[in-house]
Formats: sequence, C-alpha cells, structure tokens
Amino acid sequence: MSPIPERSTAEWQALDAAHYLHPFTDSRALAARGTRVVTRAEGVYLYDSEGHRILDGMSGLWCVALGYGRPELAEAAYRQMQQLPYYNSFFQCANPPAIELAAKLAELTPPQFNHVFFSGSGSEANDTFVRLARRYWMLRGEPERQVIISRWNGYHGSTMAGASLGGMKAMHAQGGLPIPGIVHINQPYWFERGGNLDPAEFGLQAARELEAKIIEIGPERVAAFIGEPVQGAGGVIIPPETYWPEVQRILDRYGILFGSDEVICGFGRTGRWFGCEHFGTRPDFLTLAKAITSGYQPLGALMVSDRVAEVFIEKGGEFAHGYTYSGHPVAAAVALANLEIMQKEGVVDRVRNDLAPYFSTRWGELAAHPLVGEARSLGLLGALELVPRKPSREFFPERGSVGTRARDISIRNGLVMRAVWDTLIVAPPLVITRNEIDELLTKAVTSLDQLHADLRRDGWL
Ligand SMILES: *Cc1c(COP(=O)(O)O)cnc(C)c1O
Repeated sequence: MSPIPERSTAEWQALDAAHYLHPFTDSRALAARGTRVVTRAEGVYLYDSEGHRILDGMSGLWCVALGYGRPELAEAAYRQMQQLPYYNSFFQCANPPAIELAAKLAELTPPQFNHVFFSGSGSEANDTFVRLARRYWMLRGEPERQVIISRWNGYHGSTMAGASLGGMKAMHAQGGLPIPGIVHINQPYWFERGGNLDPAEFGLQAARELEAKIIEIGPERVAAFIGEPVQGAGGVIIPPETYWPEVQRILDRYGILFGSDEVICGFGRTGRWFGCEHFGTRPDFLTLAKAITSGYQPLGALMVSDRVAEVFIEKGGEFAHGYTYSGHPVAAAVALANLEIMQKEGVVDRVRNDLAPYFSTRWGELAAHPLVGEARSLGLLGALELVPRKPSREFFPERGSVGTRARDISIRNGLVMRAVWDTLIVAPPLVITRNEIDELLTKAVTSLDQLHADLRRDGWL
C-alpha cells in the first residue's frame, strides 16, 4: 500500500487548482493564490506544507474539541474498522457502537431526550428534523401544520433543507432556496440591530417577532421553530439574556415544536454540555454533529424528545427517510471514545469553571483596542466587532473587506481567526491551556495593531 505522496507545496497547489472544487470558495481566486496545504496537527496547533505553525483558534470548523492527535480516537477507529467497518441500520439491523452511542447520548442530553436518529453530518440531521417535525403533525392528525420558522443569518447547513432553514441570503440566491414552507424572522443581533434599545429590551423585541410571524401565518399551520443557541457562522451572535425565555414562552403558548441546533454549542462549547442548558430552554429536538466526534469522523445526530418520539413510535408506519451512513459503526465508535474522554477528563466542567472565565477576562481586554467596537464571549466562543469610530456601532464601508484583511494578517501571525463580514470570531479547542489562551491573545493584539497601521496608511481611518 503506498503512502500519500510527499510533494512540494507548488505541486500540491497545481493539482488542487486543476481538480479540486472547494466548499464556500471562489475557485478562480483560490487557483490564482494557491491553497494552503495543512499537513499535520498536534494539540491546538496546525502545521502547513511550508512549515508554518498556526494556533487553530477555530478548532478546524468548530469541531476539534479535544484537539488534534488524540491516539485514543485513532485506536477506536482502527479497532472498529477491523471488527466491523460498515453495516447499515436499515432493514431491522443495528451495530453495537451505534446502539451504545444512542444510549450514551440519551444519558448526556437533557432528560426529555431518549431517542436519536443518526446521520452523516449536521446538515443531514437538519433535513431529518424537517422531515420528522412535519411527519409528527401528520401523525397527530394536524397535517396542515407544516411551516417551519427560522432566522435570518442563522446557519443550519448546506443541503437543500439545511440551507433553507439557514438565513444566509447569499446561499438562498444560488439554487432556488428556500424550499417551500420555511420562513425567516430577524436575528437577535444587538450590535447591528439594537438601535437605541438596551440589550434586554431588544432581546424581547427580537423574540416577539416570532409571535408576530406565528400569528401572520396562523398558529395552526406552524410545525416548528429552529435556532442556534448562539449563532456561530453568522458571527458568534450571543443573544441578550431576555431572548430565549421569551421565545420559549411563545412556543409553549402556541404548542409549536422547538429545534435547538447544537451543532456548535453542543458538547461543552458554552461551558455546559448543551447550549439549551445554558439558556434554560426545553427543546424537542437537538441537532448534533461536529464536536460529537471532535471532527475525527463525520457524524450527525438528531435527538428527539419523548413527546415527539412517543407519537412517532405509537402511531407506527414506516418513516421513509434514512442515510446509508446512519449509525456508521466507525463514526459511532469514535464518538463514544470522544465522549468518554470528555467525561473522564471533566472537559466541560473545566471550560465552565476555569477556561471560560479566564478567556472572558482576557478576550474582554480587546475591547480597549481602537478598532474593537465590542468584544463578546460565552464559554469558548469569542467575537470582535471591528469598527472605524468608537463608540458608534457603524461598520466600515464595503462591509467585509476589513474583516478579510484582519483574518489574513492573523493567519500570517500564526493564529486562525475567522472573519464574518467585519466580525472576527474564535472558537478554540476545549483543551486549550491558559498559556495557549495568552498566546492567542498576544497574536490577536499584534494582528489588530498591524491592521490599524495598515488602515491608517491606506486612509481608512
Ligand atoms: C456546521 C453547522 C451545521 C452543518 O453541519 P455539517 O456537518 O457541515 O453539515 C448545522 N448547523 C450548525 C449550527 C452548524 O454550525
């Protein structure tokens, strides 16, 4: 068996440009610039083909909770591949890792959750959510309840249903989305939309848009609402404390199902196991993926609450939906090993009691920088709003170009931060140390200072 060839960066970039279409990428621009080839990683650090060492402030794509290079996860995959590399869960079959993982997820999630439907990704799990929420109301004898409400600038994945639930207008514009029966309300993004309201008032106002939308559609036609506890890809938008309790009250009042998309917030990111526990909501569905395996294997899952599962199971009939890789034994074995380590090492408690308070203090210091209009954080999620003139909450003109410059400077300085328009975001691995948080902050400050000097030089400030 031949190993993956060792090539020069230029050779890899040429092959990449010739053959590889990348997700969320302008292929022509990438081909001109050349892709960054990441060749290995250890702990919180990435290494690229040019030998750069980069602190991964984004945990890959929010997923590498336990950091890179955990041998236990590699061993779990290897053992399971030898024992049973694949078998399906259709036709009345199952495999031990998938069964064990179902039971483990029932144990870790809030008490109303005792059933799970497996998928290969978060997007697929959200497709399952749409199918299952709609089928629930058909089984309940209310087939007209089919509309699902979600939020502008939310992110729920990239399949046709996932992107439709999401509120990314650039995604909707490509491919005729949203699909029918999905409608959007505004997001609880105080920095952009709060105007003169204080955050608490604004949170209530944003939540009440849900009630207005339900009344506009007719409550008897609304199946479900879905949202991320904290919007991740939209820019780490941490809603005011008043928001989620009011949303919960409204959903209870109209008897509407509630999906909490925990693909980012799940498994310790906020300092609790699940984001709904931080905000005190009582969802009927949890969408899970990403950190469920620390990204070492692709896996998604939809947790289904007892009140939904009971109807679903009692009324019977085949659910005409499933994926070849639903309950994949290798992915499930890696998830089990990942969750076992999280429990044994007390990873979530350490985030809540030690790392998050430390990160919050250090990240908060960035608010003093002349370019930073707001520095917010929750758990190990952080965001910086870049603005030309404090304390105004006005963004830079040509929204997004300053953020992209900041991101590129940061990567050159050895830190992955992500830019969402002019918001810089981080979500480091949950196993990051205090010293590594200090390093992250030092690199962020250096990068902001360089950006500030560049913007001055170019007449932006
Ligand atoms: C990443 C993400 C998804 C989609 O997950 P994939 O595994 O990329 O399909 C869904 N919801 C949220 C909140 C996400 O961050």
